[in-house]
Amino acid sequence: MIRLPIYLCHPTHKVGIDWLQFLEFLLAKVVTTKVAIAQIKAQRQKLITVWSAFMNRRTLLNLVGRAGGTAAVLTTLNALGFWNSAATASKRPQLAAGSGEGVKVAILGGGLAGMTAAYELTKAGYTCTVLEARDRAGGRCWTLRGGDTVAEIDSQQTCPFEIAEDLYINPGPARIPHHHTHLLGYCKEFGVPLQVIVNENRGAYFQDDEAFGGQPMMNRRVVNDTRGYIAELLAKAVSKNALDQEISEEDKEQLLKLVKSFGALDKDYLYKGTARSSYKQPRGAGLTPGERYEILPMSELLKSAFWEYKLQFGEGCDQAATMLQPIGGMDQIAKAFERQVGQLIQYNVEVSQIRKTSAGVQIVYTDKTTATPATLEANFAICTFPLSVLKDIDC
Ligand SMILES: Cc1cc2nc3c(=O)[nH]c(=O)nc-3n(C[C@H](O)[C@H](O)[C@H](O)COP(=O)(O)OP(=O)(O)OC[C@H]3O[C@@H](n4cnc5c(N)ncnc54)[C@H](O)[C@@H]3O)c2cc1C
Repeated sequence: MIRLPIYLCHPTHKVGIDWLQFLEFLLAKVVTTKVAIAQIKAQRQKLITVWSAFMNRRTLLNLVGRAGGTAAVLTTLNALGFWNSAATASKRPQLAAGSGEGVKVAILGGGLAGMTAAYELTKAGYTCTVLEARDRAGGRCWTLRGGDTVAEIDSQQTCPFEIAEDLYINPGPARIPHHHTHLLGYCKEFGVPLQVIVNENRGAYFQDDEAFGGQPMMNRRVVNDTRGYIAELLAKAVSKNALDQEISEEDKEQLLKLVKSFGALDKDYLYKGTARSSYKQPRGAGLTPGERYEILPMSELLKSAFWEYKLQFGEGCDQAATMLQPIGGMDQIAKAFERQVGQLIQYNVEVSQIRKTSAGVQIVYTDKTTATPATLEANFAICTFPLSVLKDIDC
């Protein structure tokens, strides 16, 4: 027998074994391994077949939802690339820490843009000064509550409504679309609680003096009846071959199916009203199937100005669900920023001039409380004034 050196042996063998034994051993291993691999492969294939028959995206999300709730579903959607998770998708300016050491920046305007600039630049070491004409930060991002006074150019108004936590009006911005990821990211970072805002209400009423005798009409009736009429007309045109030059025979068939579904047409492609518009007499149990609203006359719909923008208001990407708002008023966002950068803001100072100098910029402003003019020198200026304001600034 040939003795094999120890190093060729199976690790479990502490001493050498003879050649034949070793070959037998290897053969057995190979056969066992092959069988094992084949079995694993078969099992794997079986699993994939069963899994694919049962698992689709919807099922997966459903299971994730059951296990982890909405947040888990949203995170999964985000991971799969189907949805940009609002608060996590935000990519902020990546300024290296300390990159702004020794650099002065004058920020003109203490609205959200000015405060965001101050926040990010300060983190990178820049020395920022924010000049704000009003006695508050936030600019257009503002909320009014009972007793608040609003100074207009030529007058002053006081809000006469009751003072209560949830009684307020946002005279400027009120809605945050779900894809405004940067702003949502800051809300998350600063702990501003958000809630959903109902931006389009199909149960609300439209009113136009020129149509329906000035009577208000429910949004969902206007929307669905308008769609129904358009769908029926299109179906008629297609059925009478009026669009043969535009669409192929195959597309024609599909288009008819589409308009039927789109406009809630009946089997003859006629619009006879739809439950989508809701019920005049609500549905009940047993013999009370409910009474649908009658269809609104097309001529009145056409006369009204509803279709100019109200009908498609909620379709715009900036207006479509899901829209969010800070709980307690839009100024919660301004206040949150102010908590971060308030110490950098000079309030009640009105900028009148922006000048370039050899070292950077010179800002001329007036301190409104003392009516004294002053200047601020900086290496850079960031101007966040609206253009309608900037046009009157000497620069
Ligand atoms: C009625 C209305 C509704 C809106 N609705 C929405 C909405 O729902 N959702 C949304 O995302 N956006 C909305 N917007 C837009 C949003 O409000 C603005 O895009 C945002 O607030 C602009 O922020 P800003 O910092 O760039 O400007 P501003 O908020 O205008 O800030 C500029 C700052 O400069 C100050 N300033 C002006 N002149 C001088 C001066 N000479 N010297 C010193 N300081 C000065 C002002 O006092 C102000 O604080 C709405 C706007 C309005 C007016």
